[in-house]
Amino acid sequence: MLNFNFPTPEVKQEYDVVVVGGGVAGAAAALAAAREGASVILLEKAALLGGLATIGLINWYEPLCDGKGKKLIGGIGEEFLHASIKYCQDTLPADWREKGESDGESKRYTTHFSPNAFAIALFELLIDAGVTVRYDTLATYPQMDGDICTGVLSETKTGCEYYPCKIVIDATGDAQVFYRAGCECEDGTNWMSFVSHYRKFDETLKPDMLAMRRWKVSGSGMTGKGQPEGFKPIAGVTSDEINLHIQTGQKILISQLKTMDRNAGELTQLPMMPQFRTIRRIVGDFTLEESNMYQSFEDAIGAFADFRPLRRTQWYEVPYRTLYTSKLPNMLAAGRIISSTGEAWNASRVIPVAVMTGEACGVAAALAVKNGVSVPDVDVSELRALLTKNGNIVSKPQ
Ligand SMILES: Cc1cc2nc3c(=O)[nH]c(=O)nc-3n(C[C@H](O)[C@H](O)[C@H](O)COP(=O)(O)OP(=O)(O)OC[C@H]3O[C@@H](n4cnc5c(N)ncnc54)[C@H](O)[C@@H]3O)c2cc1C
Repeated sequence: MLNFNFPTPEVKQEYDVVVVGGGVAGAAAALAAAREGASVILLEKAALLGGLATIGLINWYEPLCDGKGKKLIGGIGEEFLHASIKYCQDTLPADWREKGESDGESKRYTTHFSPNAFAIALFELLIDAGVTVRYDTLATYPQMDGDICTGVLSETKTGCEYYPCKIVIDATGDAQVFYRAGCECEDGTNWMSFVSHYRKFDETLKPDMLAMRRWKVSGSGMTGKGQPEGFKPIAGVTSDEINLHIQTGQKILISQLKTMDRNAGELTQLPMMPQFRTIRRIVGDFTLEESNMYQSFEDAIGAFADFRPLRRTQWYEVPYRTLYTSKLPNMLAAGRIISSTGEAWNASRVIPVAVMTGEACGVAAALAVKNGVSVPDVDVSELRALLTKNGNIVSKPQ
């Protein structure tokens, strides 16, 4: 019989809000909560902010517009788009920069960005707002007292640390905190695709941001075309699945490199996290699905239009109830883990919507703390009013 001896965790200072995960959703949540006056700490296991958008090498900010030339996502969703290009070139259409709208349906409110420049700009925004950022901190388990999460345990180089708090925002990209708190969840499915950035040497002198980071795809493309034979789509919820996905991608890349001229270019960046699209999401009080397209909700915290060109005028409003379950009343879900399913999950998992839900979580958390109420009891009209004051469009204009 093995006898495991774990040291007692070091109890750290209490914060109003602990945000777990510093992807775009977690960064938005932390920023929004801090701006509303809450004390906030953000725990991130990597050494940069931005998650998939930065260390996962996704350098394309999907659209903020309704597909007909009008802005649909404002607030921090829009602020982060501009932060993503603050220190680098961009591909933002001039109409959006100069007029804030576009007359052409093809010119959407979207841009490429440099992952490195975006990560640094996010850090700047968060420290300026007074958020405490803890890198290299792997959140392990929520500490539960019945259905209340009293804080989050984490593992760091120093040892095991415990962060007590009033509200926890799970922005892990795979609902790890909710799942380990016992929340019902749905797993996603993912193709075997692996994207790195590659630069051809004949393009090095061009002042062109895209020449620096052409997508080199190993394995499947974005729609599953080219999926390696015999490789079943996976969720990415276990260590075995994560290792299989990353190592298969790296092996395919090695086989591609063997056929390439090593003097013709260079791999400029490899992904530092698994590139799964939909891993695991919470089952919340309301689950957004395709049948909710074009539907208005009294508790909507924002709206978005589908990022895909052929679906660009399809829009959804996002009810506040997708961000929590009443079974865990001091926890909120931000980003690609909100309660949405099928095509609605596919459409809502992208950067601008992840930021939008992150901001709503941050404001809701600050309101819950300020008014001494649980997450489900947050006054939705007050939440919507604050989001609107901060530049968000909480309901789709008719
Ligand atoms: C191949 C691919 C292509 C894509 N293309 C686009 C695109 O072109 N445009 C677009 O807008 N979107 C795109 N997306 C989707 C988009 O990038 C993501 O859905 C979005 O960035 C998710 O943000 P998030 O903050 O919710 O989650 P994540 O980016 O996953 O952030 C989660 C963060 O939490 C951290 N974390 C996780 N667990 C822990 C823990 N236990 N303790 C501490 N930290 C933890 C992670 O390190 C990470 O930083 C693409 C996705 C993929 C996979």
